[in-house]
Amino acid sequence: MTTFKPMPKFALGPDIPESGFVVTDLGDGAYGVTQGMVNTMFLETKNGVVLVDAPPALGEGLLPAIESVTSKPLTHLIYSHSHADHIGAAHLLNRDGLQIIAHDLTGQFIEEAHDDRRPLPNVTFSGPHKALDIDGTRFVLDYTGDWHQAGNLFIHVPERKLFAAMDSFTPKNPPFFRLVFSAHVPAYFEAMNQMLEYDFGTIVTGHMALYGTPEDVATNREYINDLRKSATEALQTVDLKEAAAAVGVPENNKQAELKVWMDAVVARAAELMPSWDKRLGGTDIFLADNLNAVAWSLFID
Ligand SMILES: [Zn+2]
Repeated sequence: MTTFKPMPKFALGPDIPESGFVVTDLGDGAYGVTQGMVNTMFLETKNGVVLVDAPPALGEGLLPAIESVTSKPLTHLIYSHSHADHIGAAHLLNRDGLQIIAHDLTGQFIEEAHDDRRPLPNVTFSGPHKALDIDGTRFVLDYTGDWHQAGNLFIHVPERKLFAAMDSFTPKNPPFFRLVFSAHVPAYFEAMNQMLEYDFGTIVTGHMALYGTPEDVATNREYINDLRKSATEALQTVDLKEAAAAVGVPENNKQAELKVWMDAVVARAAELMPSWDKRLGGTDIFLADNLNAVAWSLFID
């Protein structure tokens, strides 16, 4: 069995009660909701509720979660991007009059998916920017690049200093898997800079049970910069032919050489990484996946 380092308390969210979800007051009529593995947010406007995403892990709990803090009806649903783990419960909320807002590209992905759980948006926009007044509250939707998936949005509610960037990172944890399955690694790095240009106090990022601050974004940026530094040095020092010969790859098997070389680059980069255990939890879990993504990107982008 693979064993992992114990998770420090600071990297874990609250315990999940029997209801299956925890609603967290983010201030000013905004709330986070999580079941431990995914999270999202909703906020009250004058007469209704705006929800971002509809994760299937929360599924039937979404409306009870909203109803636990307000009796106002759900009027708007914003899709952060098209991935099913974030919006696959939207069909449970869909009814006449619900405005579903998304980027055009998100609508296109949903069409391609032929998935009844993800109703098509009925308000879309193309281009990089859309500002909306929803029942007296200003929402800014920005598409700044494919840092996770084409069409992914930054969702900013300036007057409440609230920000959502789903699947950007996880507060107090390293990124999941390969930089959260980033579609384009250079855009992922740039996204951390872009996020820090917004004025917000709280950020909702889509996974686990913690919400973040600008400081958490800066910490993730620092961490991925360490990944890049280590991978850069490993790429410069691990030799392809030597790595292949060390494990006896036959010379005519070029693909195996490449695979063995990259594994050696990742192993070397992991040794070069400074310890982050005092600042992030679970640093061992996805280290090799993240380094693999960063190293390949350094090699080809
Ligand atoms: Zn996603």
